Amino acid sequence: MPIWTARVLTIFPEMFPGPLGQSLAGQALEKGIWALETVDIRGFASDKHRTVDDAPFGGGPGMVMRPDVVDAAIAAAKGTDPALPLIFLSPRGRPLDQARVRALAAGPGALVLCGRFEGVDQRVLDAHGAEEISLGDFVLSGGEPAAIALIDACVRIVPGIIGKAESLEEESFERGLLEYPHFTRPQVWQDRAVPEVLVSGHHAKVRAWRLAEAERITRERRPDLWARYTEGPGGRA
Ligand code: SAH
Repeated sequence: MPIWTARVLTIFPEMFPGPLGQSLAGQALEKGIWALETVDIRGFASDKHRTVDDAPFGGGPGMVMRPDVVDAAIAAAKGTDPALPLIFLSPRGRPLDQARVRALAAGPGALVLCGRFEGVDQRVLDAHGAEEISLGDFVLSGGEPAAIALIDACVRIVPGIIGKAESLEEESFERGLLEYPHFTRPQVWQDRAVPEVLVSGHHAKVRAWRLAEAERITRERRPDLWARYTEGPGGRA
């Protein structure tokens, strides 16, 4: 089976691997457990200045990435792996969540198109049926930091990258809840003791305490998640 592959289309290939070259993801990248490739969109410009953008029809500020140049880059990136889904990072996209991350991580990988300037000509997104994904309701100056975040979230759950399966299962969102609080040594720090139950050695009580805390924190901070948790299948209500 081919390895999980992220192929990033960008005008800043030197931003990669960046943080993805460090830590567990970086070690796994070096070992060839997953692959990260960049496609330099500028390489597909046809003029001698390697122009990738132009002024928007209808006027207004900023520049837009040209459909012909982006299309040529996508065609080259698809080349050998037509099965890779094309993702365009965009504040207009569906907000990324752990369910989408899980599905992407379970697939062959992704082609990840990074916008710059005001964005990308709509026609090339439509022509390729690009899936638009947003990192949240804020605006970055380019898609690259979002691509790094998306790929990081995927590779950490691609099998063989993080050792312990259970370290993923209990995490935020895996059960539709935010995570319970963590404590480590020293047991008393600046007059603050860790919760008694955690040093009791009583595993069932620890589990119950952690679930109760996860539920309390989710209820307090994220009414949206809480509603889904209590109403959804297997919910409490
Ligand atoms: N004019 C656009 C913003 C362009 S920002 C607007 O108002 O919606 C330039 C590029 O940064 C975008 O094309 C996109 O690829 C990336 N980007 C910005 N914010 C993002 C976000 N919240 N999530 C994912 N990508 C984002």
